Amino acid sequence: MNNLNQVNITEVCPRDGFQSLPETIPTDEKVAYINQMMECGFKQIEVTSFVHPKAVPQLKDASEVLEKINRPSGVKLRALIPNLRGLERAIEAKVDKVKLMLSATDSHSKNNANATTFEAIKGFEPLVQRAETSPIHVGGSISVAFGCPYEGSVPIERHIEIAKRYEQMGITDISLADTTGMANPYKIKRVVEALRKEFPSFHFSLHLHNTRGMAFANAVAGFEVGIVDFDSSAAGLGGCPYAPNASGNIATEDLVHGFEEMGIKTGIDLNRVINIAKLLEQRFPIQSDSFILKAGKCSDLHIAPKEQTKIGN
Ligand code: ZN
Repeated sequence: MNNLNQVNITEVCPRDGFQSLPETIPTDEKVAYINQMMECGFKQIEVTSFVHPKAVPQLKDASEVLEKINRPSGVKLRALIPNLRGLERAIEAKVDKVKLMLSATDSHSKNNANATTFEAIKGFEPLVQRAETSPIHVGGSISVAFGCPYEGSVPIERHIEIAKRYEQMGITDISLADTTGMANPYKIKRVVEALRKEFPSFHFSLHLHNTRGMAFANAVAGFEVGIVDFDSSAAGLGGCPYAPNASGNIATEDLVHGFEEMGIKTGIDLNRVINIAKLLEQRFPIQSDSFILKAGKCSDLHIAPKEQTKIGN
């Protein structure tokens, strides 16, 4: 059980959300959204990904975005990187933290990185050594950790083996990603508990997609077994270019609202997030999965009707 009553939410819309859109958003428009997100109280924002421009053309302006955005002192900037070239670009752009992209299964990894999982993690070694000579913090990730669209369930032994290889490189900060929304609350608890038991000094976080409507339940399950760091995306914008039919991340406004309703502090200004989410929903051709955009907050009370309309008996 988690005795804390506070969670940290990282906004990932500028990376996970913007890369999932069919169109490439003009740089200045991205910068304007990110600057608004800076005002919401997030301690960390995933601003972009330093992947090859041909792989994800939507984020080809990563360096330019980082040059142009505001940099308030309380907000850390994170970027996703697939390789050493990505790290060099991230160092040059002065991001605070990079997250390594790694898939739990060989099928997903081959699709994503053109290498098996263990080949890909081996390839991170020179990158981690290079990062040691820079101020950048390197975190790991395990994509499709709770189910792979090609291989199905991922055995716990696999997570443990991957975490061991990260540990050998000195990486103890790992994001567990439910990339295609195949997790459920029991699975989250099983995987997180097993990993926390095996690696008590590690820091694990959750990156949840709401593909099957279970992301909030999964977040609560994670919280109950000690997770306090979560990713989410305004308006639930997001997907995975390498995972068929992967829909958006859990919407930031849903995650913030849900935790706050439970008395768990997020430090986020929910109304500001809702305003940004509304702008995104109006601007982009998305079918948002956000419940708060549809229904409003629980605290948005309605005027009670003067007379009840009697329905049936
Ligand atoms: Zn994602």
